[in-house]
Amino acid sequence: MRACVIHGKEDLRIEDVAAPSVAERQVRVRIRAGGICGSDIHYFFEGRNGDFVIKEPLIPGHEVSGEVAEVGSAVRRVRPGDRIAVHPGRPCGRCAQCRRGAENLCTNVFFFGSASKFPHMQGAFCESVTVDESQCHPVPANLDFPVLAFAEPLSVALHAITRAGSLVGRRVLVTGMGPIGMLTLMAARKAGASFLAATDAVDEPLRKAEQVGADLAVNVAQDRSRLAAALQGPGAVDVAIEASGSPMALRDCLELVRPGGIVVQMGTLPRGDVAIPANLVMAKELDLRGVFRSGMEFDMAVDWLANGRLDVRPVLTGVYPLADARSAFDAAKDRRRSLKVMIEI
Ligand SMILES: [Zn+2]
Ligand SMILES: [Zn+2]
Repeated sequence: MRACVIHGKEDLRIEDVAAPSVAERQVRVRIRAGGICGSDIHYFFEGRNGDFVIKEPLIPGHEVSGEVAEVGSAVRRVRPGDRIAVHPGRPCGRCAQCRRGAENLCTNVFFFGSASKFPHMQGAFCESVTVDESQCHPVPANLDFPVLAFAEPLSVALHAITRAGSLVGRRVLVTGMGPIGMLTLMAARKAGASFLAATDAVDEPLRKAEQVGADLAVNVAQDRSRLAAALQGPGAVDVAIEASGSPMALRDCLELVRPGGIVVQMGTLPRGDVAIPANLVMAKELDLRGVFRSGMEFDMAVDWLANGRLDVRPVLTGVYPLADARSAFDAAKDRRRSLKVMIEI
């Protein structure tokens, strides 16, 4: 079968690899669409994602949808032909984190397209993958594959909202208008937020943020003072969600949230230690909360996509065939013209 394989920094090849076989409780999925995530972009352009270095050829991709092609003899949940969103993680189900219901924090998880372990966990930018039946989320047959491939990134946005707590009537700041930040902004409105502020260092995604509902959109690279002025005193936000991975943005969140407010860290900050005004956590009695991947929100994301509760199409800016994966990665890296870029397989 054909697969997109990263051999190292800027070395991406479309090649033939062995097709997977199916065990008793497994499902073979014919992948149809996959979204390029920030981690995939790092693997391709840098040969690494933070501390995880590519040491053997890696198939990237974890935000995927497809059709059930074949099922093992003990599979009951799906049948061949079913259209599905694929959960990219297979938690062990036995560790302490799994047992307390925090499967996104499983210490033995298999997660598509990650070099965090060796041998690497191969991803899903290829024609077929095998998964456990528990990773398959069937949807109505009329749902677009690229829309369905938003299940994972939307689930991460929804997990951030879960972590933030009730947003009903809350004033919310989201820093970083990449696909995840944008989806978080949109989901925060659905969750009842009364005011939404968005920041980025690039104008184009901020214009998009205004189109999808931001009340205030500020380019902090050009006009940081405007943000502080707008969010002073009674204008302060109750919740600040950091989705850019920039230490400056985390600083904005800590400084601009009201006393007693909540700061949610979702972006991946640079490797190593990061200098932040940490005393604000103490002096303002802030809650600083992390977000890592998602949990039960995956079902919710699939439900929202299937019911059209949240229209993700404004976030989808390009679809490329597998043979053009290189162009897809180039487009995905260009934040002036792209939000979520997909590969069709
Ligand atoms: Zn992702
Ligand atoms: Zn586990």
